Amino acid sequence: MGGSAALKERENMNCRIAEGMVNKYIDHTLPLSDLEDFLEHIEKCSSCYDELATYFIVHKAMQQLDEKQEDTVLDFKELLEEDIRKSRRYIRKKKFHRAIAAVAVCVLIVALVVFLVFVILELKEGI
Ligand SMILES: [Zn+2]
Repeated sequence: MGGSAALKERENMNCRIAEGMVNKYIDHTLPLSDLEDFLEHIEKCSSCYDELATYFIVHKAMQQLDEKQEDTVLDFKELLEEDIRKSRRYIRKKKFHRAIAAVAVCVLIVALVVFLVFVILELKEGI
């Protein structure tokens, strides 16, 4: 039992790491893999989500103060949810592009192999 608990601990990002990523998340400077882990963590961990919400609200409030926006948005919770949705879309888009790139590489390799087989067969027939 203790072993599986330890495994779970390793699988999930711990709160200390997640808290260290909050500022980077808000600045949108987290690398893709960290961003994915971070979003996964805050989905399950309400204390880290609250931590993020607090920083996010402060950040947005200061931004709105700087920009002196006429239509000041006060629903920060909704803003944060929107930001998280955008981040999820960004991850999906990036993953999709990576999958396309991987498929393209596979197709290229297969094409190269087929080409080489044809060349070899041609050479054999030539002899
Ligand atoms: Zn946490």
